[in-house]
This record gives sequence, C-alpha cells and structure tokens, in this order.
Amino acid sequence: MALIVHKYGGTSMGSTERIRNVAKRVAKWVRAGHQMVVVPSAMSGETNRLLGLAKEVSPEKATPQTMRELDMIASTGEQVSVGLLALALQAEGVAAVSYSGWQVPVKTDSAYTKARIESIDDARVRADLAAGRVVIITGFQGIDGDGHVTTLGRGGSDTSAVAVAAAMKAAECLIYTDVDGVYTTDPRVVPEARRLPVISFEEMLEMASLGSKVLQIRSVEFAGKYRVPLRVLSSFTPWDIPLAEEAASGTLITFEEDEKMEQAVVSGIAFNRDEAKVTIMRVPDKPGIAYQILGAVADANIDVDVIVQNVSHDGKTDFSFTVHRNDYARAIDLLKTKVGPALEANEVVGDAKICKVSIVGIGMKSHVGIAAKMFRTLAEEGINIQMITTSEIKTSVVIDEKYMELAVRALHKAFDLESPQAA
Ligand code: ASP
Ligand code: MG
Repeated sequence: MALIVHKYGGTSMGSTERIRNVAKRVAKWVRAGHQMVVVPSAMSGETNRLLGLAKEVSPEKATPQTMRELDMIASTGEQVSVGLLALALQAEGVAAVSYSGWQVPVKTDSAYTKARIESIDDARVRADLAAGRVVIITGFQGIDGDGHVTTLGRGGSDTSAVAVAAAMKAAECLIYTDVDGVYTTDPRVVPEARRLPVISFEEMLEMASLGSKVLQIRSVEFAGKYRVPLRVLSSFTPWDIPLAEEAASGTLITFEEDEKMEQAVVSGIAFNRDEAKVTIMRVPDKPGIAYQILGAVADANIDVDVIVQNVSHDGKTDFSFTVHRNDYARAIDLLKTKVGPALEANEVVGDAKICKVSIVGIGMKSHVGIAAKMFRTLAEEGINIQMITTSEIKTSVVIDEKYMELAVRALHKAFDLESPQAA
C-alpha cells in the first residue's frame, strides 16, 4: 500500500461520462489498497470560457484589482471538477471528500494569475486519508497570505499535483493526460516518434522548457526540487486494465540516471516557434555594453533566451538575442528608440519568422561530436544556422521557421530515434 497522487487534465475531466470513468479508475487504485489524493483540472474549455466571460465584462487592461477578480473567476472551474469527482466516487461506493485550495490550505504568494505555491498544510488531508477517504483537491488554485484566491497560471494543475505529492511525500505522482507519455519528438511532425518509457528529470526539464508541452515547466522544476517521482500516462486506456499494467505505462521521469539511459546519446528533439530574433548592429565592443542592452530589456520585463555577440571589427560588434514573439514588437521598439540611439548603434533589425530546434540527451555529457553531427545533418538539408547555444545536455539552433519540420525530421532520423516497428 502506498500514498499515490493522481492528476487528471481537462480532457480527462471533459464530460460527466469521463468524470465517471476517472472515478472508476481511482476506485480501482483504492481497492488495490492505496491511499489516494486526486488533483483534477477544470473540465476542458472551462477556464477559457470563464476568462472569456471576464473579458466581455471588462476588456480593460490588467491591474492588480482586475487580476484578483480574474483568479476569483478562473478558480471556479476546478471547484466544479472536484465536487463532481467526489460525487462520482461516492456513487462508486468509495468515500471521498473534495477541497478547494483555501480549505487545505494551499498557500501561495500574491502574484495573481501566476502565483507560486509557498506551502501546503497536509494535516487535514492526512486525517481524511487515515479515515479511509479519497481526498480530491482543486488544481490550479490556492490562497495568499491575506486570504485572496489565487491561480497558478495556465496549465497550473500539473504544478498543484506535484506540490501536493511533495507535501504528502507520495510514492509517485501520476499525471493522466491526453497523450500516452513523453515522445522523442512531436508525433504530429514525425509520425515515427517513439514514446520514451523513461526519461531523466534533467532531460524532461529541457524538453519542457524547449517547447514540449506535455507538462507545465514549473511542475517539472517542482518535481526536481522535491524529488517527486513523476509518471505521465494516458487517461484514455480503459479504466479496468490491470493496475500493474497501468502503473508501468506511460513515461517515468526519474532521478536515477542508469547506464541504459546514457546509451541513448540523444533522447529527444524539441522545437518551438514562439521566439523572434532581434539584432542591434555595430555597437561599441567594450565592457558594459551587453549589460546596457539586456539590462534595458530586462527592465521592460522582456525575457531573453538565446544570446549571441559577434567578434568585433574596428571596435564595433553586432549583438543578437531572441525574445518571445509576443514581446517582439516591444523589444524592437525599445532598441530603436532608446538603447540603439544611446549606443550610437548603426541599425536595429529583427526577424519573427525563426524557430529553435534542440537535441536533448544526458548521454551528451559523455559523448563527443554530437553537436557536429547535428550541424552536419542540417547542412545536408541545406539549412542555415543563425544562432547556436549549448548546455551540458542540449544543443539548440535558431533557424528559419520554414525549415522547422524538415530539421526535426532529419535530426530524428540522424540520431536513430525512430521506433523499431516503423523502421
Ligand atoms: N484549468 C487551468 C487551465 O486551463 C489549469 C490546468 O488545466 O492545468 O489552464
Ligand atoms: Mg495541462
């Protein structure tokens, strides 16, 4: 018998029929002798619907006051879910109780719409478990120090579930979702993509941050910090498959980097189209310039990702970096109107039609020539690399957006990631 946390996403909770199926699945785990805590999302589409209503009433700009109310509204989706799931479990003959974030409580800071969990009180939950009840806790929401309801940001229920699992010292946190695990890359781009039975926590962190949208990145960070064993698995398998089979399905995100994992040099290919590139040309090549540029960008609250500074010619250099596409116009404007003139830069240019493609694998720590192989593969496809960054376990390139799928397919093949059946 173990204490297990299940998380069900919006699609899994998408209709009353699906909620009944979730209840049947949870009941199966209870009957196998486990203590269960369940963290569901709002029914699919519900959070969008609620935020849409808010927009109809007040299309105004976000202020702390309006953001407080947005959280008040958006958090209700999860409240409906927990109540329905508790009822469905009771109908299955399983004792169950639902709680909102404030009832547990799940304490957060006061950053409305993107609050961070600070602590979770486990006393009430433990008492219920001891009394033989399944405890169902809202995902996505909490309460701040002044008693205001907060939400954790879109996709935040993953983080709720992992935080609950950490607080309860659960044996495992199972994330049931609409895909059956973490893949070598997006199967919509590469049909031969393969499910990874296991991936290291470090790799998952890279894959999540590089645009593989299976888990909210903060949930992975949380799992890393508190060493919560995580598993991503499908909620679409029939609820009555044998428990042992279900418990071993999907992808396990592990902290143990065994030898077998290191054999696969590259575990996955991640990509995203969310970035844009800006370049400020011919700025002075002297101490403090990078700070002047990126300091101003940071002050404008714009996140920077890849950064490249060229060698200088005659004391001048070109400086490029990428930002989120949503911040592109603001970044260009800032450079053109403020930073550029201050540095007597020649010109500011930009390109929003780029993408970033990355190879990820802990095996890269102990193998040489991996980046070279990546570059050769891209060269053979005639793809020009605009920027490069690396870390111990990944190499990323920025390329023209129109070559993204070609690059991903070629790399997937070059690094032998295809499934044996499809080959
Ligand atoms: N319901 C919230 C959202 O749609 C949180 C979640 O589903 O994880 O973003
Ligand atoms: Mg989700």
